[in-house]
Amino acid sequence: MHTLEIRDLFVALTEQPDKPIVKGLTLTIKAGEIHAIMGPNGTGKSTLSKAIAGHPGYVITGGDVLIDSKSILEMEPDERARAGIFLAFQYPSEIPGVSIANFLRAAVQARLAEGEELDATAYYKRLYSKMDLLKIDRKFTSRAVNDGFSGGEKKRCEILQMAMLEPTFALMDETDSGLDIDALRIVADGVNAMRGPKLGVLMITHYQRLLDYIVPDQVHVMYDGRIVKTGDKSLALELEAKGYDWVKQDLATA
Ligand code: ADP
Ligand code: MG
Repeated sequence: MHTLEIRDLFVALTEQPDKPIVKGLTLTIKAGEIHAIMGPNGTGKSTLSKAIAGHPGYVITGGDVLIDSKSILEMEPDERARAGIFLAFQYPSEIPGVSIANFLRAAVQARLAEGEELDATAYYKRLYSKMDLLKIDRKFTSRAVNDGFSGGEKKRCEILQMAMLEPTFALMDETDSGLDIDALRIVADGVNAMRGPKLGVLMITHYQRLLDYIVPDQVHVMYDGRIVKTGDKSLALELEAKGYDWVKQDLATA
């Protein structure tokens, strides 16, 4: 069974390496599990996911990230992707003139070992089977990437990309922009369709709402760069009811 282990992790902006944003975060995710991280704005949730994926704007200044006990810190972002990490693109740029089908094909090709060629017939077969799984209309993939997409269509593109890449660990950052209910359902239905023993998910969300549709195995509350509480799905409900001030007060009295 595959394991993603985040060990006492410190992350800062590459430009400001002496100012940590993530401050000693520890978390282990096994394939087959869905973990949710919740927390107030500005607490370092997006920084955490980008640092794990290898975003050049962020530097890991302490701790380690390991897949199956092997550190990934020396790996380039594409090597991390090949090792099974997927960071959902929140807003892949619009790519007018490039169809989703061709964009995904390039993404799948990029994950292959050097010299290995993607077989076109096999690719389309896989694409269509994933689209059926996710109940996506065939017409969708002939559209240009994100060109005039609604929020829901962007999410559909992101989920389809995830299905095609079959990551072992998906980092899904729902940001704080707020998804409308349609987009939320698309993400939730997609994740639930892919849910299984081979996939581990780190679901980052500001809102408890998403967790009504995707029931996580564990919920972590992140505050000021660390995980300060862990529980099951009832913790998300407690947070919804009491708000983040409850966490702060709890910490102050601890
Ligand atoms: P969250 O996702 O929990 O809202 P972020 O990880 O986006 O939090 O941000 C944590 C803190 O780091 C915030 O104070 C934010 O302003 C700062 N930060 C993150 N990324 C950048 C960046 N690229 N440039 C400047 N500040 C950043
Ligand atoms: Mg964020």
